[in-house]
Amino acid sequence: MDLKKVIREIPDFPKPGISFKDITTLLQDGEAFKHSVDLIVEDLKDKNVDIIVGPEARGFLMGTPVAYAMGVGFVPVRKPGKLPFETESYDYGLEYGTDTLQIHTDAIKPGQRVAIVDDLLATGGTMIAAAKLIEKLGGEVVSMQFLIELEDLNGREKISKYDVNSLIKY
Ligand code: 5GP
Repeated sequence: MDLKKVIREIPDFPKPGISFKDITTLLQDGEAFKHSVDLIVEDLKDKNVDIIVGPEARGFLMGTPVAYAMGVGFVPVRKPGKLPFETESYDYGLEYGTDTLQIHTDAIKPGQRVAIVDDLLATGGTMIAAAKLIEKLGGEVVSMQFLIELEDLNGREKISKYDVNSLIKY
């Protein structure tokens, strides 16, 4: 199945010059959505993953079905002020702007093997932030999984010490 066919490209969103990869067209296609989740689960199956982390907001959409299919837990990484319990924070640079991500301090137990799942790898800033948060809590990042990778932005270089898998490349 050619997953690229179900990704919609929106020129100049959210800013002029950015060609936004819209995954809602993939999510609304049941066959393509299931196939994407299945491919990520297949790649993770021998990596002894204890828990999945997904960054807000599209990481929730891809991460939770992967966690459900694997029978492991899911941990949200969120923008500031959203998580109700005690949090750990990390500041990072985005493809467009800067942001902070937070995780609940009790979400990952020391020694847990963690896979991060997100919709898209651009500069890798989000992934570094998520990995730092997991590592601060004593977790081990054993894989990073993406629906889409924007190869021109060299995000893979920034996260080269990690295991990385992406399903669609631009
Ligand atoms: P990075 O931190 O790697 O520069 O950016 C990746 C993050 O930005 C991801 O969490 C992703 O959701 C969001 N993002 C950046 N560009 C796009 C895009 O074109 N399409 C989608 N769906 N997400 C994007």
